[in-house]
Amino acid sequence: TSETGYENPEIKDIPNDNEDIELGYSFTNTGEINVPPLLIDQILGQEQAVEIVKKAARQRRHVMMIGTPGTGKSLLAKAMAELLPKEELEDIMVYPNAEDSNNPRIRRVPAGKGREIVAAHRAEAQKKAQSKTMILMFLIVGVVIYTILTGQSILIAIFVCLLLLTFGRQFIGRDEALIPKLLVSNYNKQQAPYVDSTAAHAGALLGDVRHDPFQSGGLETPAHDRVEAGDIHKSHKGVLFMDEINILSIESQQSLLTALQEKEYAITGQSERSSGALVKTEPVPCDFIMVAAGNIDALEKMHPALRSRIKGYGYEVYMRESMPDTPENRDKFIRFVAQEVMRDGNIPQFDEDAVKEIIREAMRRSGRKGQLTLKLRDLGGLVRVAGDLARADNAPFTTAEHVLRAKKISRSIEQQLADRYLENKTDYESFFKEGGEIGRVNGLAVIGSDSGIVLPILSEVTPSMSGAQGNIIATGQLKTIAREAVKNVSAVIKKVTGKDIEAIDIHIQFVGTYEGVEGDSASISIATAVLSAYEKIPVDQTIAMTGSLSVRGDVLPVGGVTYKIEAAAQAGIKKVIIPKANESDVMIEDSYKDIIEIIPVSNITEVVEYALVDSPKKQEFLKKLETMLKNDKN
Ligand code: ADP
Repeated sequence: TSETGYENPEIKDIPNDNEDIELGYSFTNTGEINVPPLLIDQILGQEQAVEIVKKAARQRRHVMMIGTPGTGKSLLAKAMAELLPKEELEDIMVYPNAEDSNNPRIRRVPAGKGREIVAAHRAEAQKKAQSKTMILMFLIVGVVIYTILTGQSILIAIFVCLLLLTFGRQFIGRDEALIPKLLVSNYNKQQAPYVDSTAAHAGALLGDVRHDPFQSGGLETPAHDRVEAGDIHKSHKGVLFMDEINILSIESQQSLLTALQEKEYAITGQSERSSGALVKTEPVPCDFIMVAAGNIDALEKMHPALRSRIKGYGYEVYMRESMPDTPENRDKFIRFVAQEVMRDGNIPQFDEDAVKEIIREAMRRSGRKGQLTLKLRDLGGLVRVAGDLARADNAPFTTAEHVLRAKKISRSIEQQLADRYLENKTDYESFFKEGGEIGRVNGLAVIGSDSGIVLPILSEVTPSMSGAQGNIIATGQLKTIAREAVKNVSAVIKKVTGKDIEAIDIHIQFVGTYEGVEGDSASISIATAVLSAYEKIPVDQTIAMTGSLSVRGDVLPVGGVTYKIEAAAQAGIKKVIIPKANESDVMIEDSYKDIIEIIPVSNITEVVEYALVDSPKKQEFLKKLETMLKNDKN
């Protein structure tokens, strides 16, 4: 059994062929592929964003990137840092202020100089401390000799020595306390800094002054020594990246705006109660380029002034989620795999078939025909899991078989939930995978964004309880859209049955939906279940279905068909009815192709024709249905 404890034995043994994935060139493994040295040249599919980043780097402009996680926003920000001139880098130092110890001085020096200055001060302080220690030693020895020679009390001698030691230590430490602190160091930096400040608290972002536990008694740490640089200072002359910009508190966004405008920002203690709050440095340089990122609702929750600052002095880009499946774009995926292998550094190179399997997954994950996904963080994760499996096998290369196994392991939480659900379902035998059943349909739903489940729907028709008025009673945690779907279906049912539903109650039950069902993709299933119950014609239980229904009986497209079909196949179902309009979205894995038949339909008559078990009664009903719908259309 697999990780999830469930596996259809039929699936495992069917080999996966690669015949339909063609690449522009062939290679034995990704070790032969050249990975460009600059990050900006490693980015796939985001041509517009790449152009903007290049331009913004030249002009030192801020950038706002909006889009789905894992499409390369932080990678672009890192790439931007590589493009900035490193000649401009500086070190920032903080010095004690003799006039006002709570207002430490700030100095900038060329990159790398800061270390030397601190070292020089330290050497000086040590030299002074050494001579002072010598003087102290002489004094103590003097006291001892004097005591012996003059026969004074030992106690007084010890007292005098202790006094000397205590004051002497402060005296010696004074020079130490004057050594400046290197606040931001760019020693030996090969590129401009890149600082990821996502979800940083105010202290980390804006700098802080540490609390001093020994506030007096000669042991206190001098104020300038307790000053810590914030991300805005560490990214001076470089890039400050901030994802989910909208979760930053309004006060922090306000401060960030000030920092952007002034290009310098004094550091003060962020915790009000600490002794650090008394301290405030001179303004500290923070001339960074801001790369702010988020998804589309980040824009709304962002401080309007901050947004307009970035907009007015920079660029906004929308990240792409997929790119056309062209030969050139496929070839980019070869390079992508090579990059991810290189970045990991520990996994074996991929052979050609393994790369093809990754490309196949990129097609599937795009969810649309003729597209390749650009949610590359997740795909990179798949590359690493596959590579880890290959390494565990001591294989020289990562192969297609490793990728397929990796796909099984690295399932999302939602997929695992779907597996668990399926396990329970098979335990309770709530799947009837054969025979006919009145009023029972195998519906299909998606949970999360990438996993399907089989969702049985039961219907029963009874004489109306309330007498005058019939009701549609749905149970099983329906959410709003699903409720709407039930309403639409009742319009169709009314038309089709020809009768008023006043005299009857229609019960619809979604079996075992502990998650709550959303979406209207179950409407053809609901309709079929009700019609079967009403006409007392059994539904073929080897079939599952998904599709939305218009009030006129047309079957409309739905989302997630690939995942739904795969879920049906795993549950042992033989045929799946899907909307004709979704036909080209089907990208199921090869292993499923031979075990499940896909039936595209465009109206409810076709659904009923395929789903109901053959009988004279069914033929009669079909005729009735056709006339009904035809009349309706005329
Ligand atoms: P985001 O910031 O949009 O959430 P990241 O930039 O952190 O995404 O992407 C995570 C990882 O996924 C990157 O380090 C890289 O390995 C890979 N990746 C994402 N998008 C791309 C892309 N467009 N080109 C190449 N690699 C990518």
